[in-house]
Amino acid sequence: MSRRKQIYEGKAKILYEGPEPGTLVQYFKDDATAFNAQKKAILDGKGVLNNRISEFVMTHLAEIGIPTHFIKRLNMREQLIKKVEIIPLEVICRNVAAGTMAKRLGIEEGEKLPRSVVEFCLKRDDLGDPLIAEEHIHAFGWASSSELDEMIAMTLRINDYLQGMFAGIGIKLIDFKIEFGRLPISNEDGVVGHQVVLADEISPDSCRLWDRETNKKLDKDRFRRDLGEVTEAYTEVATRLGIIKEQNQHNATILSVVSNDD
Ligand code: 5GP
Repeated sequence: MSRRKQIYEGKAKILYEGPEPGTLVQYFKDDATAFNAQKKAILDGKGVLNNRISEFVMTHLAEIGIPTHFIKRLNMREQLIKKVEIIPLEVICRNVAAGTMAKRLGIEEGEKLPRSVVEFCLKRDDLGDPLIAEEHIHAFGWASSSELDEMIAMTLRINDYLQGMFAGIGIKLIDFKIEFGRLPISNEDGVVGHQVVLADEISPDSCRLWDRETNKKLDKDRFRRDLGEVTEAYTEVATRLGIIKEQNQHNATILSVVSNDD
């Protein structure tokens, strides 16, 4: 890891130069942050769990034809990804009112929305990732009209697929945040265009996941709201997805994840 050139350090991940041109290594840290990094903690094993869960989700999405930046998992904390230019938007898809939507619109958390809603936030930590309208995206040129159409269509397909996937393991997908990037398309003349691909990660850090029967939160809200047992909840998601086998002790789980590694 230290031999590689660091390209970028975010709140939960580090990007290093990859072994081939056009690739990067995405390293999952144990750091947890909330409320624009005003709240911070280290959660032992979170990075390992998110690496595995995101690998699982990205691999399944690729199988249904969603283009992603994911190439392969390298080890317990790292994955090889395609280098993309990140589109500076957070795309949020909601099925049930929660979080900022419940607060902003005065809807009780847990109320099912009449239909899935796609929202956009500008990726600007210094501004607290503000909610924006599609008009802003057009006016400021953050994405082209066709990129926006592709992002919305992909987000809704991802939502349909993930809702089904999580329903199969007794979990409700309340909402999630995804990011997209521009992957260069090249031929012998050089770069001739770009393809919009799913980037970043999909994990309990970026989704709200509630147990179907009890509404127990199995996601980062456990950290945001001081509910405790954060990695235990992530472990439960990984276990139900069939990614890891043990679920007794947190340490046992991490050992099980590690022993599955290459
Ligand atoms: P809300 O806008 O209600 O805070 O978040 C909606 C959904 O997007 C939640 O699933 C939340 O976890 C995710 N989300 C929103 N902003 C961020 C962010 O900056 N980082 C991550 N990891 N997830 C986010």
